[in-house]
Amino acid sequence: MFSRGKWGIHPETHKTATADRPIESMKLPEKVIIPIRQHIGAPCEPVVKKGDLVKTGQLIAVGNAAVSSNTHASVSGTVTEIAVKPHPICGEDMAIVIESDGADQWEENIPTNRDWQAMTNEEILSIIKNAGIVGMGGAAFPTYVKLNPPKDKQIDTLIINAAECEPFLTADHRVMLEYAQSVVSGIKIMKKILGVQNIIVGVEDNKMDAVKVMREAFGDLAQVIPMKTQYPQGAEKMIIKTLLQRSVSSGQLPMDVGVVVQNVGTAAAVADAVIKGIPLVERIVTVSGSMIKEPKNLKVRIGTSFADVIAACGGFEGTPGKVIMGGPMMGIAEYTVDVPVIKGTSGILAISVKEAKKMEESPCIHCGKCVSVCPMGLNPSMLSILAEKEIIDEARDEYNIVDCMECGCCSFVCPAKRHIVHHIKYTKKLLADKAAREKGATK
Ligand code: SF4
Ligand code: SF4
Repeated sequence: MFSRGKWGIHPETHKTATADRPIESMKLPEKVIIPIRQHIGAPCEPVVKKGDLVKTGQLIAVGNAAVSSNTHASVSGTVTEIAVKPHPICGEDMAIVIESDGADQWEENIPTNRDWQAMTNEEILSIIKNAGIVGMGGAAFPTYVKLNPPKDKQIDTLIINAAECEPFLTADHRVMLEYAQSVVSGIKIMKKILGVQNIIVGVEDNKMDAVKVMREAFGDLAQVIPMKTQYPQGAEKMIIKTLLQRSVSSGQLPMDVGVVVQNVGTAAAVADAVIKGIPLVERIVTVSGSMIKEPKNLKVRIGTSFADVIAACGGFEGTPGKVIMGGPMMGIAEYTVDVPVIKGTSGILAISVKEAKKMEESPCIHCGKCVSVCPMGLNPSMLSILAEKEIIDEARDEYNIVDCMECGCCSFVCPAKRHIVHHIKYTKKLLADKAAREKGATK
């Protein structure tokens, strides 16, 4: 099933079902549920109310905090509810529900055609911020924040992350093949903002057709480097190590080693926002897995329910054992298909009962396999044991749990199918809750 490199694993890629399928635009949904929390950072605040008529691309919730992101209507229609709704990451959260009028009437002046080269960096950053652009690889970190590092950080390299190392997912692959010119424009815009000369596009070597297309599109603008297909090659720390041989130490960020990393889909979204004035109202989603009748790469409006997306792929092939948002390694199991597509939804997978059953957990047999594959050099076995016993301070201070990137390599190789990442995420949440309580007590 896998073979080990110096770090990480080699899971089956399962990409053939969708790698050659061109992106299809899904028909407009009748209703969208748009959560106010779709990004890393503070949730945004609604600026519409029940009964309001909205147009596609209209601002409906504003991110006022230093790290937050605006949210826009993804269809035209009527705001019918602002209420707690199913959420693919949080379980439930506040969302704005819009019933579509079917007309897809866009906000005035969208699309447009801007001469971005005549703009200042501040103007361009403001457009990216206002358009609600976030990292499209899944993490959904606000893009304007990453493109505006503190002045004391000397950035010399922009890495475009096109590894797409998660099994099944092919959305970035298709973006490179079908939207190469948007990616080029987005990179030129980010190059201007960051003032860097060195731009490297890292693509796993199972996508050599995309390497060819990118090289032809970029010319001298960027180096396109094929990387060994190895999970988690697309993790920021890993791709920086692979492409630049620079190590991002514990507690550091890529900007501490002079690098900004942006996903290839984010580059295309930046171009759409800056040149055409289009905010982030849709994204490419790979819909795949053994229980999906017709796997596809779909362009989907934000807020469309998983149920509608799956129906657009012919529905389920029987009863699925599990529906996952994202890839199988870092993805999140969903309790209902009523959850909406959000800005970070790179994939929707449906797997069989048998495949899901293979994930049932038993006690640790202390084989050490998880330790040997952890790209961060952690002790996942010990972290999961400490998590079960809720010994959270030791997990943080002695075993560096905060360095865990939640890649899932440890769970993947574990013969006992330990839910190590789940345990680690739970411990991190307990630590965050504790820190918040302590902060509150000192106010
Ligand atoms: S402990 Fe964290 S970083 Fe290490 S393999 Fe497991 S999930 Fe990945
Ligand atoms: S791989 Fe699983 S069984 Fe082996 S040491 Fe790690 S947690 Fe325990």
